[in-house]
Amino acid sequence: MNAQVRKPFEEVLGYLEGKKKIVLMGCGGCATIFHTGGQEDVEEMAGKLEKEGKEIVGKIKMPFAVFTCYLPMSSMFLKEHKDEIEQCDAILMQSCGDGLQAVRGYLEEEMGIVKPMYPSNDALGFSSGGPAKFREECQACGECELGKTAGICPLVQCPKGLMNGPCGGTRPDGKCEVDPEKDCAWVQIYRRLEKLNSLNEYSQILEPHDWSKQTRPRMLEIEPIDLHEKLGETKKTLEALGI
Ligand code: SF4
Ligand code: SF4
Repeated sequence: MNAQVRKPFEEVLGYLEGKKKIVLMGCGGCATIFHTGGQEDVEEMAGKLEKEGKEIVGKIKMPFAVFTCYLPMSSMFLKEHKDEIEQCDAILMQSCGDGLQAVRGYLEEEMGIVKPMYPSNDALGFSSGGPAKFREECQACGECELGKTAGICPLVQCPKGLMNGPCGGTRPDGKCEVDPEKDCAWVQIYRRLEKLNSLNEYSQILEPHDWSKQTRPRMLEIEPIDLHEKLGETKKTLEALGI
């Protein structure tokens, strides 16, 4: 998921200077998990902005698991709040930048609405874990190397992104020379290969990483899912788990 933190409130206020009528839009995905755009976070932001003299004309509070960046779901909420969006001076997006831009595009291209939009969060990139601690594991490089590196990504775990063994600065205790708090990526890879009884793979020479696949912005076209069918499956699975 896309880890994110709240921007300082002063920065948000700065964006909204001169704007009176505000619509807030949260996100039921990552932003709910990171307390940056869940339903309670939208209410909290509304209270803080009202104290600063803003008029909150709309609160688009997405339920958990409804992703702002997934337009087949979020567009239903945008349509429901069309009148409020039309009358506002600005929209504050309590999502990641991906969610903001997805909504901006939909409003302009599908609903014919052009409004100033501002982010309330700073996105930090892919992270995994939870419920409290999350760790960056992947930078979406476009050419996954995990099949060659024992399932540990040196592009993320090594500050130098080295693909063919350690830099020579690894500390005697196996920590990274750049960050003594972390194990060297290549020590982690060695230890995992050892557990897998595959240490012979450690000395294989890997081809240079193809950074051309990192070129942005990327586009991807897929076969759309059947949203109602998938939500039905989720409901059944949750019920079976007693949730
Ligand atoms: S090589 Fe690393 S950064 Fe690239 S896709 Fe795989 S895990 Fe992500
Ligand atoms: S010590 Fe290991 S993780 Fe740190 S920079 Fe060198 S190779 Fe990369």
